[in-house]
Amino acid sequence: MAVQTYDYLLRDKHGKDYRDLAVYRAAGGYKAVLKAHQMGGEAIINEVKAASIRGRGGAGFPAGVKWGFVPKDTNKPKYLVVNADEGEPGTFKDNYFLSHDPHRLIEGCIITSMALDIHTAYIYVRGEFKRQIETVDKAIADAHKAGILGKNVLGTGYQLEVYTHSGAGAYICGEETALLESLEGKPGQPRLKPPFPAVVGAFGCPTLVNNVETIASVPVVIEHGGEWFHKLGVERDGGSRLIGISGHVKKPGLYEIGVGANMREVIYELAGGILEDRPLKAVIPGGSSCAVMTPEQIDAPMTLDGIRDAGSSFGTGGIIVMAEGTCMVKALQRLSHFYAHESCGQCTPCREGTGWMARIIDDIEAGRARQEDLDTLLEVADQIGGNTICALGDAASIPVQSFLQKFRAEFQAHIDHGGCPIEGPMPRGTRP
Ligand code: SF4
Repeated sequence: MAVQTYDYLLRDKHGKDYRDLAVYRAAGGYKAVLKAHQMGGEAIINEVKAASIRGRGGAGFPAGVKWGFVPKDTNKPKYLVVNADEGEPGTFKDNYFLSHDPHRLIEGCIITSMALDIHTAYIYVRGEFKRQIETVDKAIADAHKAGILGKNVLGTGYQLEVYTHSGAGAYICGEETALLESLEGKPGQPRLKPPFPAVVGAFGCPTLVNNVETIASVPVVIEHGGEWFHKLGVERDGGSRLIGISGHVKKPGLYEIGVGANMREVIYELAGGILEDRPLKAVIPGGSSCAVMTPEQIDAPMTLDGIRDAGSSFGTGGIIVMAEGTCMVKALQRLSHFYAHESCGQCTPCREGTGWMARIIDDIEAGRARQEDLDTLLEVADQIGGNTICALGDAASIPVQSFLQKFRAEFQAHIDHGGCPIEGPMPRGTRP
């Protein structure tokens, strides 16, 4: 069965420059704001609940439910913070909205803010996205000039200011409480939860933190209706969503699919199959922190529950495909160094353990590891998982555990051969 693709969110095939406000408005842009204003806050939240959007940032928490946690009656200001710190290896979907469709994100900010009576929104963008920040800043300025932002949003009397805020290049600032710390001008280190940001967030005030794609989906939900959007996906996981496919496939890139499409079909149909028609070796289904899957596991619906039942997690929807010929020790080595580098250092298991794991994997890859190092590696990973303030500890240990579980023989072979036993070049066009 062919995989159904959509262009409600991913509009790059339209051949239009949606960064241009006039183009965006000619395509119906910002009309959903007026509709939302007439609906009122409660009705907007109900539509988002009906859409059954599960947060697109990785955790998969239902967006409408999260919105419901922001207190209605409070004498404090409330904030919307859009998490645009997209830094997970293998993930490149939010970049699309920031680079090519910033008004869609701003429109989502306006509707979300109206729903929760918020008057200040921040878009926290990863530091490396310099051009994207310029693009979004220009869109904000254009919207201001046109009376879409500011004291009287589209003549409705509603007031909203939207600001971008640049991170400084730390992956951990994609974790919502580290992001808030960074937004407040402090080092980006995660907070202990509870309290959760919905109650005590930015500057000690109630704050909704949502991913870019989640917020960018809101205008589509309001325009077409929550039930309609829900039906693009499945019962407990509604709508369409963007997935990015990278690695050893013939057609890597970004696709919009209905939640629930089969992963094998996505890889072999949408992405054209494996480079040089090699056999598939492994798939990381949702960003580098998800457990690696073997070819036997990928006949799974691409839903949060479906990928979990298949033994991994959907995460951000960034699929990394590895062909036969990939050295799994080398692949894990790269991931482990990434997490060791990005640990914020607050908790001992993560601060010490991520570096320890990376050094052991270095030894295995270089052929100087001892037999007992394999068990030590697993033990360190087990000691980190679940024993840290934030999920980076798990993100660092899950790849180690799953790579060793699925490809232990390859790690063993590195020890036995005193180095990498895999011969032959990698598929064309990929780095060894
Ligand atoms: Fe920092 Fe790692 Fe602890 Fe998270 S788990 S708070 S990144 S040290």
